[in-house]
Amino acid sequence: MKKKTLTTSFGMPVADDQNTMTAGKKGPALIQDIHLIEKLAHFDRERIPERVVHAKGAGAYGYFEVTHDVTKYTRANFLSKVGKRTEVFVRFSTVGGEKGSADSERDPRGFAVKFYTEEGNYDMVGNNTPVFFIRDPLKFPDFIHTQKRHPAKNTKDANMFWDFLSLTPESIHQVTILFSDRGTPKSYRFMNGYSGHTFMWYNNKGEYFWVKIHFKTEQGSQNLTREEAVRLAGEDPDQATRDLYDSIEKGDYPAWKVYVQVMTPEQVEKYRFDSFDITKVWPHGDVPLQPFGRMVLNRNPENYFADVEQSAFSPGNFVPGIGPSPDKMLQGRLFSYHDTHRHRLGPNYHLLPVNAPKAAPEFSNQRDGFMRVDANGGGGPNYYPNSFGGPEPDPSVGQPPIDVSGMAARHSYTLSDDDFVQAGNLYRNVMSDQDRDHLIGNIVSHLRNAQKRIQLRQTALFYKADEQYGSRVAEGLKLDLKEVKRLAAMSQEDRVKATKE
Ligand code: NDP
Repeated sequence: MKKKTLTTSFGMPVADDQNTMTAGKKGPALIQDIHLIEKLAHFDRERIPERVVHAKGAGAYGYFEVTHDVTKYTRANFLSKVGKRTEVFVRFSTVGGEKGSADSERDPRGFAVKFYTEEGNYDMVGNNTPVFFIRDPLKFPDFIHTQKRHPAKNTKDANMFWDFLSLTPESIHQVTILFSDRGTPKSYRFMNGYSGHTFMWYNNKGEYFWVKIHFKTEQGSQNLTREEAVRLAGEDPDQATRDLYDSIEKGDYPAWKVYVQVMTPEQVEKYRFDSFDITKVWPHGDVPLQPFGRMVLNRNPENYFADVEQSAFSPGNFVPGIGPSPDKMLQGRLFSYHDTHRHRLGPNYHLLPVNAPKAAPEFSNQRDGFMRVDANGGGGPNYYPNSFGGPEPDPSVGQPPIDVSGMAARHSYTLSDDDFVQAGNLYRNVMSDQDRDHLIGNIVSHLRNAQKRIQLRQTALFYKADEQYGSRVAEGLKLDLKEVKRLAAMSQEDRVKATKE
């Protein structure tokens, strides 16, 4: 095969890629060496802003196949027929670590799926845990600051980490999952994915339902112990990234069964707690999992930067038949994801091949902007309404109206199931003896690095979830159990006062 000639970025053949052009044998270098200048200047600009969260990730292509009929719930075309396949791109990630951090760190994992449907791209931007630490987007930047680096020391800081969590009791459910061994999955193939948020599905009759989506790993839920995770962080910090790539490369394709939990608007209205509160699951006993699909990952990206680093997901990418719920965290994310990508990749990031709709045409009136790399709408009209044959909205794809009323105010969640019930159920009813032993060990080894008063405040929350849970953490930290019980009996306001600096 004829060898390709090396060129500049603009296609000019390059004669020499080893010797800089200089004045005389010893130099100095000449500014007319445009090849050198182009090479250095591009290198200087290789890095794009790192994602503030979910910076380290791995991705793969595959397909989603419908296995059960859900057309009574949703009109989404990609879910319209059993056997129908849709191409997907999936990005898994850790959350708090930087781009070079270790894959085995204790952290939730991102689980983002882009479905390239014939009605546009639908993104399910979930995590490997069904709940979240907080339920109001106003708290999100503060929360993330506490999981990242101390403003002066630039180190991870147990005081910030536990101070915020112990001042935010609704986090107790997610903290319990994070400090179980599910906080350190064996690799991306061995974890479940959850939409977390509630979403709307609506059908052709204009009826709507509230749903949560679950991806259950067919590889089995497998996790690392704390000791294994710490060892791998040193010995093989990229192990989960490598594992995903290698397993696909050798034809061992990871797969997930996909389920939906469905509630009618009437059920949600009457439910014993706020069904849109993302710190809570819908117990399977109340709302069973209904299978509807299977996802298989069978193709590695050819270039990491092009496909994985530049991939951009948004929970606001819907298709007809799927819409948002009033979940406040979701509402915040609907803004924040597109905003992040516009900052990170520019306003035309939807044109990058991994992000562009593959199975549907794009006929928007958005034009121009940095890096417009397609035909930019050509000579067609760039406004609506127009009488020059431009694209028309289709009222038939609209979401059904939902009834909303009330005072515009900063409302807090009103609860009938308190924030400790589900964390306690997980500890008592779901975990095995070994899970509980590991949970306590994982918490103690981390919380012991925080100030005593913060340890006490947080341990009181564990005690409120379950007395044995709190007592065992207290024992591990050598805390006075009487003091923990005293704090647990107080209101959160009094507990905060009693544990002031
Ligand atoms: P079920 O007994 O029906 O389900 C328990 C669920 O817990 C299963 O989905 C299981 O996942 C999952 N699980 C097992 N170990 C852990 C762990 N260490 N951390 C997190 N999840 C785990 O119970 P309910 O639906 O009544 O819920 C009871 C508790 O289970 C909840 O309070 C919640 O903490 C947890 N849970 C519930 C989920 C839900 O959507 N209802 C989803 C995930 C967790 P798997 O099937 O993969 O083994």
